[in-house]
Amino acid sequence: MFKGITNVLVEVTENCPLDCRHCYLKARRRRKHHLPVKTFASFIQILRDHGGLFLTLTGGEPLLHPHVDDLLKIAADEGYVIRIYSSLQNVSESLFELISAFPVMEIETSLCGASDDEHDSVTGVKGSFYRTVEAIKRLRKEGVKVNIKMIITRENFSQIALVKRLARELDVNFFASPVILPCGGDFRIPEKFLTKRQLKELFETHADVAGGVSPRRVVFPLCNIEKGIFLSSRGEVRRCMEHPEILGHLPEDDLKAVLESSRFREAANIAREPPIAECKECAFIQWCRPCPALLKNDTVKKLMIEQFCRIAHVRYDITSRT
Ligand code: SF4
Ligand code: SF4
Repeated sequence: MFKGITNVLVEVTENCPLDCRHCYLKARRRRKHHLPVKTFASFIQILRDHGGLFLTLTGGEPLLHPHVDDLLKIAADEGYVIRIYSSLQNVSESLFELISAFPVMEIETSLCGASDDEHDSVTGVKGSFYRTVEAIKRLRKEGVKVNIKMIITRENFSQIALVKRLARELDVNFFASPVILPCGGDFRIPEKFLTKRQLKELFETHADVAGGVSPRRVVFPLCNIEKGIFLSSRGEVRRCMEHPEILGHLPEDDLKAVLESSRFREAANIAREPPIAECKECAFIQWCRPCPALLKNDTVKKLMIEQFCRIAHVRYDITSRT
């Protein structure tokens, strides 16, 4: 039996209470499509036998799944280390208690700024900053590990130092990414990319939270796709969220057969060699952290190359000066 999958990512719902300007699900998330509990249970049980250890629940907003408490109990019974990507807008008292009761649990949330004005103007929902921060305080009080992620754009760039300070005050980890995914959302994103000056400042002043500037000794593989699997709320099985190839559809297909298929293994080959011709001879490749799936996606490829290349060039400039 193939036992190489450790990282299991499940999109349990497309529903989300926010309206973020940079959201990659913009076109789908109002449809309120939820993954059936039965499909979820059978998926994670089978994956446990194939090596599954780390389970991440994502969305949309996973806590808006109408049976999220059942999903969490099933995952805990299976012995998974659970992580939840959540905007922390809808945490009921009973859910706080359930989350706090698990032995190993990590929550990842997003802040787009360090005040109501800054954050809410990106999420499009008044009071969202307050709710997220209050939920973080509550989770920390219960000893739950929390990570804050910030997508940095030209508009909220000035907020990074403030969010970093807020994360310290809240006693949570913080990381920031200047990469914007255009999938399904706003395709005018080049206006939001950081300018070269901003990227330089980001990696000179905040390299600790932005992934560093050092060249990578091992260039490829670039990602963890070989150890991963993704299930969408519509039952599509892929190797990862960004991989375009649907390898099966649940509950119709036999998941065990999908996992044993050559298509499933071959889908991970995407990470074994430079994803596009431009990367093959690239002098900046060691400073680059591209996602091979996004570079192979014809719809977003151009925008992703632009971002990855700019970031790699800035990293190179900084390290070659020191
Ligand atoms: S800098 Fe651009 S061309 Fe070079 S490896 Fe990165 S994405 Fe490819
Ligand atoms: S292909 Fe991209 S999204 Fe998928 S695991 Fe690799 S880096 Fe992550």
